[in-house]
Amino acid sequence: MPRPACEGLGAIVPEFKNLRSPEHEVLLEGVRRGQFRAIARLITLIENGATDSADFLRELFPLTGRCFTIGVTGAPGVGKSTLVDGLAGHYRQLGLKVGIIAVDPTSPFTGGAILGDRIRMRSRSLDPGTFIRSMATRGHLGGLSRATGEVLDVLDAAGFDIVLVETVGVGQDEVEVARAAHATLVLLVPGMGDDVQALKAGIMEIGDVFVINKADREGAARTEAELRALLSMSRRSDGWRPGMVRTVASEGAGLQECARAIEEYRSFLESSPQRSDRAQQVQRDRLLEMARARITEDLLGGAVCAGLVEALAAKVAARETDPYSAVEELIARYRLGAVGG
Ligand code: GDP
Repeated sequence: MPRPACEGLGAIVPEFKNLRSPEHEVLLEGVRRGQFRAIARLITLIENGATDSADFLRELFPLTGRCFTIGVTGAPGVGKSTLVDGLAGHYRQLGLKVGIIAVDPTSPFTGGAILGDRIRMRSRSLDPGTFIRSMATRGHLGGLSRATGEVLDVLDAAGFDIVLVETVGVGQDEVEVARAAHATLVLLVPGMGDDVQALKAGIMEIGDVFVINKADREGAARTEAELRALLSMSRRSDGWRPGMVRTVASEGAGLQECARAIEEYRSFLESSPQRSDRAQQVQRDRLLEMARARITEDLLGGAVCAGLVEALAAKVAARETDPYSAVEELIARYRLGAVGG
């Protein structure tokens, strides 16, 4: 598929592939040194789907592989940001370099602003040693989990030891985002009753550690018993038995236990015989998602297929053709473009 002309001289003359603008070098060096401003700028490029963000990421990738990432998910109001702040403080006290990414897949337009407020209101934002950043879906064709994976690479390359990824809300997108991390924390609050049952199908499978927050409220013991009963009914294919802790995040209670449960899972991951399988699986999902995003971009905006999706969709809607034949035509034209390009 022909790529857009904006890729610069390197795309035309291979010898110029490594020719970078001074700004490019400054930004890269800033990220390598862990400078917050440079990191924030690169994240904005990623968020906006800038074509040259891949050039940066390619160069930063060899520096990645050290950081441990923790996804935190759960319904709005359960205390995710309070817990994330507390955990970040705990890791900072251990002398670690900590990042927080708050992700909102639900509101592409207002997300940034609302998240901005949430960020300003949190206690961690007062600590100049913690990098905090919000992300919304703005302009990101390939899905937020892809953007999150890229941002995690940036922070990894920038020397962060721990990055906490907090999602706003619950749903499939949030699950995807949380899965971009090494460990996933699922937060519940006492008295969820039927909700615990409802969680069974989705969230249950992704929790490496379950946190019953607001344990100062009535019913924490019951929620824990229900959760244990549910978890005992299913076995994970990797053999891990998810940890369970009670916290009162607003008072900082249970943070040590929570961090210990995360550490246990990390040790399990690192000693697991399936460790390399898992790493391969993560990269496999990532590659497929990147390929899917590229193909979608090409289908929607590539020279050969421009307008074709809309034209075919209109035909199907008017019942002039059926979707099964339409997709065959789409793919045939796409392949023609791929070969021609
Ligand atoms: P999020 O929407 O999941 O990120 O939840 P927040 O962290 O914003 O917390 C929602 C509200 O619950 C805030 O007013 C917190 O102060 C409060 N909160 C957080 N943790 C606890 C807790 O353990 N106990 C109690 N009683 N309130 C808490």
